[in-house]
Amino acid sequence: MYRFDNHIAAYDESRRYNRKGEIAAFPPYVTFELGNSCNFSCIMCRKTYIKEKKEELDFSVFKKCVDEISNYGSLVRFIGYCEPLLYSKIKDAIRYVKKKGLRLHITTNGSLLNREMINAILENEVDSVIFSFQGFTQEEDCFMRNISCKTYSNVVNKIKLLHKSRKSEKPYITISTTITSRDNPEYETEFIKRHMCYADQVQVTGATHFAFIEDESGIRDIEKKLGLNKPRKLKNVKCFLTNYEMKIAENGNVYMCCGSFTDELNIGNIEKNTLFNMWHSEKAMKIRETLAFGDLDKFKNCRACQIRYDYDKIGNTIMNTMKGKNKKKKMELYAEER
Ligand code: SF4
Ligand code: SF4
Repeated sequence: MYRFDNHIAAYDESRRYNRKGEIAAFPPYVTFELGNSCNFSCIMCRKTYIKEKKEELDFSVFKKCVDEISNYGSLVRFIGYCEPLLYSKIKDAIRYVKKKGLRLHITTNGSLLNREMINAILENEVDSVIFSFQGFTQEEDCFMRNISCKTYSNVVNKIKLLHKSRKSEKPYITISTTITSRDNPEYETEFIKRHMCYADQVQVTGATHFAFIEDESGIRDIEKKLGLNKPRKLKNVKCFLTNYEMKIAENGNVYMCCGSFTDELNIGNIEKNTLFNMWHSEKAMKIRETLAFGDLDKFKNCRACQIRYDYDKIGNTIMNTMKGKNKKKKMELYAEER
């Protein structure tokens, strides 16, 4: 059973399995995609182009998953192709995870944060929240996310309020952005400085990826239309994420990584099986083997996965600037090129 001192320890643990044949007995962190909708319609998000009936995870199914996860002590994450704060039972879900003694992380666009939500985050001691931005400037964020300046300012003000209302170090607040070559690198320092006053960490997490947009929207050459170059495809990429990642989607389907959504990477449904059994199933083992040998083209999800690309000037790096440690570090992404 894992006993993580904080949410970061779960990611540290996962690195142990980032090689062939090293499979976690149970994933150190488990992602929930609580719903299938978002209140934003970002240009770079596949969700923007999909028309589907709004659905969300049944709360009793959610509890069943959390009960099982609590046997292993994994970090729980609310992320995915959705806005988690839209979940009708979001406060109950937060309370349930924390009552089980698990670490909890939420990634949100921040627009639905209000006083009530802030109280729920603080009272239940949510461990970590990432607020996602796009690009270095307000102008670029508003353009790429189809939002107004007012919405942008509202998000920033709500994050400030959360930060100011904290009585302890929880939640650990991260401001995160991906960038494109439309972003002037000279604005990076300004972006970090601007947001660091109400965050513990500011991350520039590599390049914005436009995978699946053509498939989902029918729009051709979206990168060209935005004035971007096509990224360079890396050779011989292997993926080991399926050794330590698992996602539960709004319909109870369980997938092998948090970016996956196709049947090929679906290992079952929580209403029919346990997470543990699915994790150790024959299908899961076959998927791992295929990806560890670098046969990523076999799966639609993996054919266009961002770990297969490198972007001029931007690359596939993560820049973390952390408060207090005065530390700026560059971490290699999990992709390997040989
Ligand atoms: S906020 Fe996130 S989930 Fe929502 S449309 Fe934008 S990228 Fe997609
Ligand atoms: S290649 Fe990408 S989509 Fe496929 S399992 Fe790995 S991280 Fe997920």
